[in-house]
Amino acid sequence: MERYDLIVVGGGPAGLSAALSARRAGMRDILILERDDELGGILNQCIHSGFGLHTFQEELTGPEYAARYVSQVQQLGIPCRTSTMVLDLSLTASGEKLVTAMNRREGLLSFTARSVVLAMGCRERPRGALNLPGYRPAGIYTAGTAQRLVNMEGFLPGREVVVLGSGDIGLIMARRMTLEGARVKAVAELMPYSGGLQRNIVQCLEDFGIPLLLSHTVVDIRGKDRVTGVTLAEVDDDRRPIPGTEEEIACDTLLLSCGLLPENELSDKLGVALSPITGGPIVNESLETNIPGVFACGNVLHVHDLVDYVSEEAGRAGACAAAYAARADLSDRDPQAVAEEVSLTLRPEGGIRYTVPQTVRPAHIEEALLVRYRVGAVYTDCTVSVWLGDVCIMKQKKKKVTPGEMQQFFLKKEALSAAGASDDIFVRLEKA
Ligand SMILES: Cc1cc2nc3c(=O)[nH]c(=O)nc-3n(C[C@H](O)[C@H](O)[C@H](O)COP(=O)(O)OP(=O)(O)OC[C@H]3O[C@@H](n4cnc5c(N)ncnc54)[C@H](O)[C@@H]3O)c2cc1C
Repeated sequence: MERYDLIVVGGGPAGLSAALSARRAGMRDILILERDDELGGILNQCIHSGFGLHTFQEELTGPEYAARYVSQVQQLGIPCRTSTMVLDLSLTASGEKLVTAMNRREGLLSFTARSVVLAMGCRERPRGALNLPGYRPAGIYTAGTAQRLVNMEGFLPGREVVVLGSGDIGLIMARRMTLEGARVKAVAELMPYSGGLQRNIVQCLEDFGIPLLLSHTVVDIRGKDRVTGVTLAEVDDDRRPIPGTEEEIACDTLLLSCGLLPENELSDKLGVALSPITGGPIVNESLETNIPGVFACGNVLHVHDLVDYVSEEAGRAGACAAAYAARADLSDRDPQAVAEEVSLTLRPEGGIRYTVPQTVRPAHIEEALLVRYRVGAVYTDCTVSVWLGDVCIMKQKKKKVTPGEMQQFFLKKEALSAAGASDDIFVRLEKA
């Protein structure tokens, strides 16, 4: 059995950045396990530009952004096993992590690791999870599958297209299909606002004259062997189709961009506590889950809009994993000290959907803690404030916040110094 200080599950941008920062923090024995044939994750199929503006102050394509991290991993000699799928994670009696994986060359593999970083990314919500009425003809794809077909396999999945869902992948694919010669007739969105970034609405739809139909959904899919059309209808405030608003649109392809789900089957089996809101692990300020030595970052933790944030977050997870594994004895923490340690829960209120992290131990913050959050609806001229009991410790005014754009604030260590063990931190959104 091979032993490592750190095993990173997933070789996308999160896994690569976590491994790099763990190595830079002095960790020697690191292994990246990636089920795909190459490193880079979902970025390999994102050939549009728009990546890396924060990290490199350059506009890169997805593969270019990934290549910068892959080459650093190679330069630092961090071992990777590609085409290797992690099948199971469990714990040994001594607190080490047992990682079971397999590949075609070596068959079934077992590794132990002092720490693990979960970086498995997310997957798209498929048709089966959407309750769409109608036949089951060919021509219905998730937007990400269509992206892979067009950008990596050189196959155009259709010529007349309707997109359901206005998340970033749907917006990007509306433009991609148009550039490849297909006609995108509409992007329909169930909610009264788009789930994608504002810049993508402008650059992918408005610049190409593609209509965005808010508060609309697909109520029928026609076609026996292949899609021949869909029926769209407007929905009311409870997202129920409004009779009499149906509109038939002829098309041969329906692309679905209706949400991403963090890939947490492995985490769940290991006993990692998951958030019902994000679908990812509940983590503390060190991005550590409820299982000591198991850290999470990137889209497996919560769905990100920009890859730059993924890389930054994963860098923190890798550094914290390195610090954990550097301890001589994994069970050396005094149980009484652990029990008495102040650990505060961040409680989202009034329009804030979630925060990451969800808990914070002030003693483990260096100077300030970066907290990311999303809101549940579109708000204009609002205030986001953070309260420790009845003391406001952070306040920021926002012109506009939308569910599609991740937000953030910093909490200063000194602001949390007065916290008692049973205190909560309330994160509130208030309209002006
Ligand atoms: C269509 C699309 C367009 C985007 N556009 C932009 C953009 O313009 N600008 C921007 O900044 N960001 C963009 N993003 C976001 C960005 O690409 C993602 O946030 C980022 O790739 C997430 O990184 P990750 O490492 O968490 O996940 P991923 O990139 O999904 O990587 C996860 C990796 O884990 C591997 N894995 C999963 N399970 C296992 C297992 N059991 N064993 C081994 N390996 C496993 C997967 O194969 C994968 O390689 C876009 C994303 C998409 C999907």
